[in-house]
Amino acid sequence: MAASDRPKEACGVFGVRDPQQSASHLTYLGLFTLQHRGQESAGIAVSDGTKILVDKDMGLVANIFNDHRLQALPGTMAIGHTRYATTGASAWDGAQPVSRGADGVYFALGHNGNLVNTATLATRFPTEVFGSDSDVIATMLADDITTRGHGNLTDAVTAVLPQLQGAFSLVVMDETKLIGARDPHGFRPLFLGRLDTGGWVLASETPALFVVGATVEREITPGEIVVIDDNGVHSHRFAEVQPRRLCTFEFVYVSRPDGILAGTSVDAARRRAGIALAQQAPVDADLVVPIPESSISGALGYAAESGIPYGQALIKSPYIGRSFIAPTQAHRDTALRLKFGPIVENIAGRRLVVVEDSLIRASTFRRTVRMLRDAGAAELHLRVLSPPYRWPCYYGMDTGDRSTLIAATKTIEQIRADLDVDSLVYLDLERLVEAINPQPAGLCTACMTGDYPVPIPRPAASRQP
Ligand code: SF4
Repeated sequence: MAASDRPKEACGVFGVRDPQQSASHLTYLGLFTLQHRGQESAGIAVSDGTKILVDKDMGLVANIFNDHRLQALPGTMAIGHTRYATTGASAWDGAQPVSRGADGVYFALGHNGNLVNTATLATRFPTEVFGSDSDVIATMLADDITTRGHGNLTDAVTAVLPQLQGAFSLVVMDETKLIGARDPHGFRPLFLGRLDTGGWVLASETPALFVVGATVEREITPGEIVVIDDNGVHSHRFAEVQPRRLCTFEFVYVSRPDGILAGTSVDAARRRAGIALAQQAPVDADLVVPIPESSISGALGYAAESGIPYGQALIKSPYIGRSFIAPTQAHRDTALRLKFGPIVENIAGRRLVVVEDSLIRASTFRRTVRMLRDAGAAELHLRVLSPPYRWPCYYGMDTGDRSTLIAATKTIEQIRADLDVDSLVYLDLERLVEAINPQPAGLCTACMTGDYPVPIPRPAASRQP
């Protein structure tokens, strides 16, 4: 999906406790691997066993942290966070980890997901100003420690998490222990990894375990808290088992293709989706091309099933980040040319099957089509690896309200005409779910169906697209 069409928030969390290694350096590697989950701010909190230091800033992980800055974060336990924050002056305030001190307990927290009862929870603290739902969680933890006087972060986490509704994969730590937790539906992923050195790692995606040399132990199960301390890993539940609702779009484009989710290879799931799309919507064409990079696996699947050769029409610059500001139409066109370079030989006079993972706002995709037309494409057949995205996400991805979602306001034929493509087919939901996992995977599909598994804070608009 083109960058500005992407949902704005799908954070990455990481945590490590390893008596033998610099935790801030390991966390840097983990965050670098999770950079795609949030590119506007990043932060690390580290403990040396007696105190916690937090360093966070706006920007990409590699731009914020260098060896000098990591050396200033000594310790063998750390958590880290990558985030897409809102723009403007308040953005730094939203950077994580957030931290609090209460009754002699100092802790830091990183959160992936969105709560749906934030406003209700916030009314308990009428004098506080909150920058995010993560801020509210931290304040509730501090309040629990203070009012119940137990002086124990684990007790506070166990007491507070059942009060949260919505999506949360959390990493939390005080000076001596690292805690991971996942909401009862498991909307967002969270994994536990083991290091040869005897250390433990928590991460949103398995490639972040791999990069620090950890092996995947298991997923944190929905409704579970794991506490990692000197005595190893302790697990307990804070909620009854609920139907699993892992975000379908973690498979479609959020997660890295080299990862494993719910026991399934993300790359393999995307290839199967491409195969299913070729079976559902064949077309006579010369070349199957992906919109790089999250559509590559799906395009390979479509090409293999259809027998049409796979090729590249657009080369994505590996250096472009999210920070390029494009206030005008001319700037936006420039931004697109910075991002994508067309291979004219593969485009001119060719009938292309263009495979895209999803269409949310589609504004950048519209310009991408123009780029392909300008390069001489004879026909453009758009195949989308997911169903129409018609309903906003309340569980961790900021997709904007319904009026910004192209499939919420237009029919498929109107979208085809608007995007100026010769044909347009979205993958059926049943085929996508089957492609992700032949077994019932327990997926959230709310943005495609309007059926929200956890009630949302305000009534959804009309169910009519
Ligand atoms: S609403 Fe859509 S994007 Fe949000 S968690 Fe559910 S499947 Fe994922």
